[in-house]
Amino acid sequence: MIRLGIDLGGTKIEAVALDTAGRELARRRVATPRGDYAGTLRAIVDLVVVIERDAGTGGTVGIGTPGAVSARTGRMKNCNSTWLNGQPLREDVEAALGRPVRIANDANCFTLAESVDGAARGARIVFGVILGTGVGGGVVVDGRVLEGANAIAGEWGHNPMPWPRDDERPGPACYCGRAGCIETMLSGPGLAADHRRTTGEVLSAEAIVARAAAGDAGSEATLARYEERLARALAHVINVVDPDVIVLGGGLSNIARLYANVPRLWTPYVFSDEVATRLSRNAHGDSGGVRGAAWLWNTEERD
Ligand SMILES: [Zn+2]
Repeated sequence: MIRLGIDLGGTKIEAVALDTAGRELARRRVATPRGDYAGTLRAIVDLVVVIERDAGTGGTVGIGTPGAVSARTGRMKNCNSTWLNGQPLREDVEAALGRPVRIANDANCFTLAESVDGAARGARIVFGVILGTGVGGGVVVDGRVLEGANAIAGEWGHNPMPWPRDDERPGPACYCGRAGCIETMLSGPGLAADHRRTTGEVLSAEAIVARAAAGDAGSEATLARYEERLARALAHVINVVDPDVIVLGGGLSNIARLYANVPRLWTPYVFSDEVATRLSRNAHGDSGGVRGAAWLWNTEERD
């Protein structure tokens, strides 16, 4: 049986059909009916019908979303696509398709994709990190997403930056209501804001990276702070989860120098005389979310 993955995003819904070896059989994309739950539901169901026709066979269905399913109510929560919150999305898709459906957070799907056949293939414990507009994370152990009692395992973006410097306290205000959250310093907008505070220059994260590479001292200093903060934030994760591999995704994962510099910088913060954890760039790029959604059925049902 093939694996269908749906990546339900705020602007687009993407679907992929994989065979059990992970080869892509079909792919489709439609715009998300923003603000319209019934329309979103219909778009998902239509995509499944069309992609099964493309692939010539039926499959299991996994969905990656920007939020999570509440274990208590079965309804969606924590979605920045707010029209999904409070809705019984899984139940509704299952009823429409007449088969069981699995739903997971998109950072968990990213981590699963990299764990199954990406940058962390073969590793037992994998921590996946999204460094983009926000900062998210997921944990996969032995090829399975760690769901957790509250469906938030790996959500480290709104923990405080550990081992803060004096000038990082209380830290930038965060939309979650607190200050100094990891996300306020390690997201793309967080990097840009840090550069603005120290230099007065309004530049995007991409422009800061390009200027640092061209020898601009202010941009170089901003990136060096970013790397040191990422190292501290990840050392905290290593001390709790002790992953074999940490895989970076999201737009900032394209900063090549992170992979050499950050592991060197995290060493003094990890509570171990040696650190075997690897830091890897993702292998699947933007396809990680949709492939990971397909692999939500990758375990005991694998045939
Ligand atoms: Zn926060």
